[in-house]
Amino acid sequence: MYKIYVEKFGGASVNSALAVENVANILKGEIKKQEHNAKRVIVISAMGKTTNMLETLVNSWYYDKVFDEKIFDKILEFHYDIIEKLFKDQAQNCLGKINLLFNEIKNKLLHASSSDYNFVYDQIVSFGERISTNIVSEYLNHSGLKNKLVSALDIVKTDNNYRDANVDWKSTKTAVEEWLLPIMEYYDIVITQGFIGGTKENLTTTLSREGSDYSAAIISYSLKAENMTIWKDVPGLLNADPKRIENTTKLLRVPYKEAIELSYYGATIIHPKTIKPLENLSIPLYIKSFIDPEQEPTVICSDKELFPIVPNYIFKDNQLLLSISPKDFSFIAERNIAYIFEILAKHNVKVNLMQNSAISFSVCIDENLKTLPLLLEELSQWYKVRYNTSLQLVTIRHYNKQAIDNILKGRQSIIEQKNRTTVQFLINM
Ligand code: ASP
Ligand code: MG
Repeated sequence: MYKIYVEKFGGASVNSALAVENVANILKGEIKKQEHNAKRVIVISAMGKTTNMLETLVNSWYYDKVFDEKIFDKILEFHYDIIEKLFKDQAQNCLGKINLLFNEIKNKLLHASSSDYNFVYDQIVSFGERISTNIVSEYLNHSGLKNKLVSALDIVKTDNNYRDANVDWKSTKTAVEEWLLPIMEYYDIVITQGFIGGTKENLTTTLSREGSDYSAAIISYSLKAENMTIWKDVPGLLNADPKRIENTTKLLRVPYKEAIELSYYGATIIHPKTIKPLENLSIPLYIKSFIDPEQEPTVICSDKELFPIVPNYIFKDNQLLLSISPKDFSFIAERNIAYIFEILAKHNVKVNLMQNSAISFSVCIDENLKTLPLLLEELSQWYKVRYNTSLQLVTIRHYNKQAIDNILKGRQSIIEQKNRTTVQFLINM
């Protein structure tokens, strides 16, 4: 018998030849430490900023009908350079494989017959992960870590909601059992792509930006993994963004529920859909530093309480406060609120905070000046609408007086909401 570990390496952990070498060293270190038979599934993102560059390539083709040679060459050279540094005079084999993938990108884009932007996006942007996994798999084999590259299309099965595909858990489980597990009988290390999945017809989908964490969680769940690790450039989960707060504290043990709350309020360190599948099977999630792998990690687990228990700060800048009141001076009763929410949902607006009085309903939303005019137009048919911009929403979980003073520094907040564990302030930026 063996235990299964799922490890996810994000874009920053594979953004150079040195970084890829570091991944190999980390894996060698982990394998050395293990006390029992183990198999690993390694989930890898696109290298560095490749996904952004591929997005640019798709956009100029889709919106301006130009094939942006400059960005294409930039992506190509970025990867060539990594391959040449990794394999030196033995780069030919890997370069050959990667060339085929780049030809495919060009052909697919130039001959894209679909007018569905989201579909075309997924067919092209997914190449970031295809390229990175080919390089990493080849390099690990080259450095003695025998592994098999498996396409995520064959294991993460989704519907065809392109760019934000929904997982088909049943087909995924079957695919994992019938396809992935037999391969794992022969290989201790399997490499696969984060972020991408496949439909019934085996067309490529993506799970939304930064979705590789979620991929790793889907695979961990389907394999009933022993644990999952996300390797990051930070030493674990901190109680605040160190760019905003001095003297941050590392959270060592975080209950699943707490991690879900933190990501709900806007903590961006883990993709929000990641936690639930792990919680369902009580699979611990480790957040470790690829810069300093021996540091004590954060573990997200089924503990009841956060440890250490310290205030957690989450900042959301560029917030807008909409104040909505019925033109006929009727109360903002259930019907109005339901209707307002319908309009907000139609415009894809997510509400970060809300508050109502008898005749007015206020919602705090991300400032998105592009979609605002249409939203205002629709709301204004029935309501009087006013708004303030340039606000900041600060959430403190496990607050105390000192934490609040630290944030407000004598400033007046526009809205304040408090319950036993969480306080939120909307303030001028
Ligand atoms: N490469 C994808 C992105 O940058 C997915 C990921 O990194 O998680 O959004
Ligand atoms: Mg990324």
